[in-house]
Amino acid sequence: MEQNLKVYNSLSSSKEKFEPLSPPYVGMYICGPTVYSDVHLGNLRSFLSFDIVYRYLQHIGYKVRYVRNITDVGHLENDADEGEDKIAKKAKLENLEPMEVVHKYTQGFHEVAQIFNLKGPSIEPSASGHIIEQIDLVKKILDTGLAYEINGSIYFDVMKYHENTHYGILSGRVLEDLLSGSRELDGQEEKRGPLDFALWKKAAPAHIMRWPSPWGDGFPGWHLECSTMSTKYLGKQFDIHGGGLDLKFPHHECEIAQCVAGYGVSPAKYWMHANMLTINGQKMSKSLGNSFLPHQLFDGDHELLDRAYSPMTVRFFMLQTHYRSTLDLSNEALTAASKGYKKLANGLRVASQISYPFNQQGEINEQLDQQVNQLCDNCYHAMNDDFNTAKAIAHLFNILKKINTMHNGNLDISQVTSQTFVRMKSTFQMFVQEVLGLKEEKPSEPDLLLDIVLGSYREAKAEKKYEKVDAIRDQLKKQGIVLKDMKTGVDWAYEE
Ligand code: ZN
Repeated sequence: MEQNLKVYNSLSSSKEKFEPLSPPYVGMYICGPTVYSDVHLGNLRSFLSFDIVYRYLQHIGYKVRYVRNITDVGHLENDADEGEDKIAKKAKLENLEPMEVVHKYTQGFHEVAQIFNLKGPSIEPSASGHIIEQIDLVKKILDTGLAYEINGSIYFDVMKYHENTHYGILSGRVLEDLLSGSRELDGQEEKRGPLDFALWKKAAPAHIMRWPSPWGDGFPGWHLECSTMSTKYLGKQFDIHGGGLDLKFPHHECEIAQCVAGYGVSPAKYWMHANMLTINGQKMSKSLGNSFLPHQLFDGDHELLDRAYSPMTVRFFMLQTHYRSTLDLSNEALTAASKGYKKLANGLRVASQISYPFNQQGEINEQLDQQVNQLCDNCYHAMNDDFNTAKAIAHLFNILKKINTMHNGNLDISQVTSQTFVRMKSTFQMFVQEVLGLKEEKPSEPDLLLDIVLGSYREAKAEKKYEKVDAIRDQLKKQGIVLKDMKTGVDWAYEE
C-alpha cells in the first residue's frame, strides 16, 4: 500500500507529508547521551521515540542512515558557557580519568539500550573524535563575520546573525523577549551580547579536557558537535533531526544558526521533539526525589514504586502515549501496561499456533474479510500519522480479538481468504515485534520453573508413578539436565 507519511515538524508546527530528499534513503540525526552520568528514564523515552521512527521507516521500505552521537567532551555546567567541566567534575568525584568516566557511562547507556531493545544507530560518532571538523566549522563561521574571537575563545554573534536571518525560527522565541529576559553582562564576561554562545572556549590551565586549535588550547562549545557530525555523515541538509523537547532551545536553535552561518543552509528538513516524562503529574527532578534511573524501575528499587516492572512493560507503557504528548508515570498506569503487554505477548504465541486450514471449507464471508483487512490498514494509518503508536496499539488489540476467536474455535478461519489470514497474522507479528520492538520476556527465573518440575517429580516418586518419573527424567535430559536421587532429596545438575 502507498505510504502517505505525515510527520509533525517542529519548525512549521504542522503535519506535513514526509518527502525524503532522495527516496528511498532517509538521513536521521538524533542528539545522543551525555556520558558523565547514568541515562535517565526521561532520556530513555526520547531515545525510544526515535527508535520507533527508525524501525517504522525501515519497515515501510526506507533505507535509513541513523546517526546518534555520544557527547564526550566536557561541557560546562552553566549553559555550557561557564562553570565547571561536568566530565572533569565527575572524574574528580569518582577518582577516575575523564575518559574512564566517558567509557563507563557510554557502556552503561549501551547496556540499558539493549535491555530496552533499542536498535543501535548506523553510526555512533563521538564529539572527542571530531575536534578537527569542529575547529573547521568555527573557522568557516569566523570567515563569514558571524563570530568573533576574544582571549582565545570564539563566540557566535547572535544579534548580527539575526540582522539577515531569523534566530528563534525553531523555538518560536522572540529575540527581544530573550534579550529582556537575559541578565545584563556584568563587565566580567567577554561576550559582546548576552545571547551570544561559545563555539570554542579557551581552556584554563587546570582544565583537563583540552585540544590545540588556531586560537590556543581549548575545547568546543556545546552546540558545535551536532552541527559538525550531522553534516559529516548526512550532508549539509538531511531529513530528520530529533531529540528531547528540552533540546529545542537553545541547543537546536543554535545548531541551525551555526549551520546557516557556516554551511549556508538549515540542516534538517524535519525537526522532531519527544515530550517529557512526568511522575504522578509532577515534573521529574533530582531535587524532588522523584527522578528515576531505568534499573530502579526494572528492580522495583524506588520508594515511589509498589513493585518492579519489566523492561518490555515499561516500553509498552511508553508507547501507549504519542511521543509528542507528556507521559505520566504511575504505579496504576504501569500495572495496567503490564497486563496490556502480556496480552500482546500471549497474542504472539497464539498467532504462531494458528494456521490456515489445509482443505478450505465453507464460504468466504466478504464482510469479515474486508473488516480484517481494514484492521491491518488501520495500523499503518496510525503510524503514518506522525508515528502514532498509541492508536496503532489500539488497532493491534482489535486484530488480536480476531486472532483469539479464531484460536479458540469461535470463528472459522476459512471465512476469510488465505491471503487475508496471512496478512492479519503477519501484520500483528511484525507490528508487535519489528515496529514496536516488543519482544517476549521469558520467565526471569528459570530455576523457579525447574523447581516446579522437581516438585512434580518428587510427587510422582512418592506415589510410585514410575512412568511419569521416567518421563520427567527423559524430558529434562533432552534439555541437558540430569536428576540426582540422594538420601537428602532430589537435586539436579548439568549433564556432563
Ligand atoms: Zn545535539
